[in-house]
Amino acid sequence: MIDLQIHTTDSDGTWSWTQVLEKCLNLNLAAFAITDHDTTVRRDDIVEWAKTNDAMAIPGIELSSCENDQTIHLLGYFLDGPLNQLELRLNFLREGRMDRNKKIVAKLQSLGISVTEEDVLAAAGRATVGRPHIARLLMQKGVVKSMQEAFDRYLSANGQAYYPKVELPLREAIDLLHSAGAVTSISHPGLLKRTPDVLEESLKLWRSWGLDGIEALYPSYSLEQTAFFERMAEKYGFLRTGGSDFHGENKPHIQIGTGTGHLNVPDEFLQPLLDRRDEIVGALSV
Ligand code: AMP
Ligand code: ZN
Ligand code: FE
Repeated sequence: MIDLQIHTTDSDGTWSWTQVLEKCLNLNLAAFAITDHDTTVRRDDIVEWAKTNDAMAIPGIELSSCENDQTIHLLGYFLDGPLNQLELRLNFLREGRMDRNKKIVAKLQSLGISVTEEDVLAAAGRATVGRPHIARLLMQKGVVKSMQEAFDRYLSANGQAYYPKVELPLREAIDLLHSAGAVTSISHPGLLKRTPDVLEESLKLWRSWGLDGIEALYPSYSLEQTAFFERMAEKYGFLRTGGSDFHGENKPHIQIGTGTGHLNVPDEFLQPLLDRRDEIVGALSV
């Protein structure tokens, strides 16, 4: 079994990267990827850890992108190339998140909730700051009883304090990750609010933009959705990825490897990803 989507305290997870990697090792996962939002801060540490522990620990990223006014999360695996171009754009996203925090905090304050920008920044520390940090803060202040309530009432797209964040156009995001030596896969495409017909058209278009893979296995997918993505992979030549989207206590119902209990991402997904990595990295050096 493998797990190709895991978050840590470097973005909006609650476990540190070493806690996560040790857990993966204990679970005997054949491969595992850390995919924190909009950051490459841990790439070298993970590569080093993988060597020391002789384990297939993969550095990755989940990049915030958009297409047709819809948020699309793009996973990137291996990051085996130069990071300079990617870093420039990550700085832009980081600045966008800082600006957005101010907006969300102002909305919360206008609702009579005493929360400051400093509180949010302190909660995030050096991590990529995100709505889960604000949700946790609202919980600690007793404003809400759960993360879910924080999102439902305030932070989800139709919540009272919602403000969108800056994202990169998907086509640019794919090129950018390739330039950094990463294999790309659409994160949880089953969560996109598109009918299967529309989604198929999108996937076809994105394949023509160079998209490598799709997250075909994900804890919340129905059997129908899984079958649909298997079919899409077959029909358009996508690589398949799958992951738990573990976030520690920020998503307490999700476990590493098994998700809600039924996730089982097979080892056989790995080799095609490695082969594609070699192609991408090879093309960078000519
Ligand atoms: P952001 O990057 O600030 O837009 O935050 C997005 C993150 O919020 C996602 O990666 C999810 O992990 C998390 N999230 C979204 N909705 C919920 C929810 N209802 N409960 C807990 N976490 C959520
Ligand atoms: Zn997250
Ligand atoms: Fe995501």
